[in-house]
Amino acid sequence: MLRKFLAVLPERDRRSLRALVGWLTAAAVLHGIALGLTGLLIANLLDPGESAAPAGIALGMVTLAFVMVQWIAQMIAFRVGSETARALHTELGEHVARLPLGWFTATRQAEVIGSATGGVTSLMSYPALLLRPALTAVITPISAAATLALLDWRYTLAALGAAAISWWVSRFSTRKAAEVDHRRHETSAEGTSRLLEYATRQPLIRTDRAWAPTPSKSSDLHRALAEVHRAGRRSATAVVPGLLLFGVTLNALFAGLIALGLAWTGNGGSAVFIGVVVVLARLSAIASTGAELAAGLRLQQGALTRLTDILTSPPLAVQTVEKHRSEKIVDVRQVTFGYGETPVLSDVSFTLPQRGLTALVGPSGAGKTTLIRLLARFWDPTTGSVQRNGEDLRALSPEDLYAGIGTVLQDDYLLDTTLGENIRAGRPDATDAEVAQAVAAAGLTDLIAEIGLDAPVGPGGSKLSGGQRQRVCVARALLKSAPLTLMDEATSALDPQNRRLITETAYQLAQNGSVVLVAHDLDTIRRADQILVLDQGRIVQRGRHEDLAAQDGLYQRLLREHGVPTV
Ligand code: ADP
Repeated sequence: MLRKFLAVLPERDRRSLRALVGWLTAAAVLHGIALGLTGLLIANLLDPGESAAPAGIALGMVTLAFVMVQWIAQMIAFRVGSETARALHTELGEHVARLPLGWFTATRQAEVIGSATGGVTSLMSYPALLLRPALTAVITPISAAATLALLDWRYTLAALGAAAISWWVSRFSTRKAAEVDHRRHETSAEGTSRLLEYATRQPLIRTDRAWAPTPSKSSDLHRALAEVHRAGRRSATAVVPGLLLFGVTLNALFAGLIALGLAWTGNGGSAVFIGVVVVLARLSAIASTGAELAAGLRLQQGALTRLTDILTSPPLAVQTVEKHRSEKIVDVRQVTFGYGETPVLSDVSFTLPQRGLTALVGPSGAGKTTLIRLLARFWDPTTGSVQRNGEDLRALSPEDLYAGIGTVLQDDYLLDTTLGENIRAGRPDATDAEVAQAVAAAGLTDLIAEIGLDAPVGPGGSKLSGGQRQRVCVARALLKSAPLTLMDEATSALDPQNRRLITETAYQLAQNGSVVLVAHDLDTIRRADQILVLDQGRIVQRGRHEDLAAQDGLYQRLLREHGVPTV
């Protein structure tokens, strides 16, 4: 567990944790020596032929050292605990931001939420609280047993044997609990993802005729939650037999050691025997606490494994790829891509000029949105490459990659902050006049006069209407005026006014940069510098409106379907 823990921590926190382990180990060793010396002192006090003074002085000194080391260790433990939680949260956040979007299945989203909220917080108690008793349960008995050699080495051997047996039994019983906990967690993640689905699909559920205010007993959500409940009960009861078994073993070992002692010393007992019994009684209590904690530790191990799984999922790596100089801002070369086995894009090649508007058209499902996602490196192509200014997107750092791209997409997200900050996210150093210009161009002047730039937009922009959210994204993209802007005119949710706004913005940005627009309203792209017609993941036609409209092909058919004149 410690090794796994060290592996997920950044170097600085790793050093702190190692130092903590050092201090805790020293405290546990001193604890054991103090216990052993207590036995020696008792034996010496009971034996008229021995002087108790040396053992007493040694015990006093060791106890003092133990208290000091223990105090320092506990101070370090609390600090390391809180720093660890911070480091793991940061690492989780940074790693998740670098994962390909395809990684985020519903279950994995639930895993990330579980790790960020419960997992990391519960792991914080590992260095802060649990590590000390866990190390004590293992190291103190060994150190106490070694000290007992001062009295009689046979007790040392017997106590070490008993420690080995109880260690093995403890492992055996907690392993079972860990297996059950793993299953409990899987069902819990499934339950969370069903719950998320139920919460986020409310509009659909409510407009569905089969809608009921609460999930029905036969629904997936109900089944998943019932399974979570059952798994939770199984997990709790699975720990009990292990703990009982360990308790019985410990008592049996204690009785066995006493019997052995009696056999060695004769029925009358001796001063040494009494000293040893006192030490063993104390060790048995320490081991018993350790066993209870071991079950807790095993469960934490589950949380750690899940966190490690997320942190070791391969991110979109920045690779060293050969650089080609290019006049074009984007060069897409023989790209093939599929979300799964089925190819969604096949052998797609095109270039985007440094300035101008490129429209993507085609029937629904042709791959337009997917192509936009590859241009923004939300995913990497399966084969082929996407280059920007002669560099493969895979060679750009996330900062460089996104500094050069603006987006107005269907699933664009607003940050849970003010309206003003959302607009400024495009270019934080923009002047107030520039912000006002972008606000006016995006048709947000009235809204801002009403609620002000400092109004909070709510999580994901939930306090704004769909149209207002889109306008904020437009203002953000206008302010950014990135060399490459990716836009989706899209969605039926948009009123004609907003669609027009998007198209106008596209033309405006295309004067100084390159714009790719997924166009649904074919009437608006007559002036596009380049039109790419996609069908079933392939570019079937390319050119300007006049040429394509005159050709017998998909573009002409689409124009007719939309009632747009072909001449
Ligand atoms: P368009 O934008 O032209 O309508 P898309 O790029 O959205 O087309 O979709 C192309 C194909 O890829 C469709 O068959 C769609 O079902 C599939 N697809 C789109 N997004 C995903 C996704 N996240 N996971 C799996 N398949 C997807």
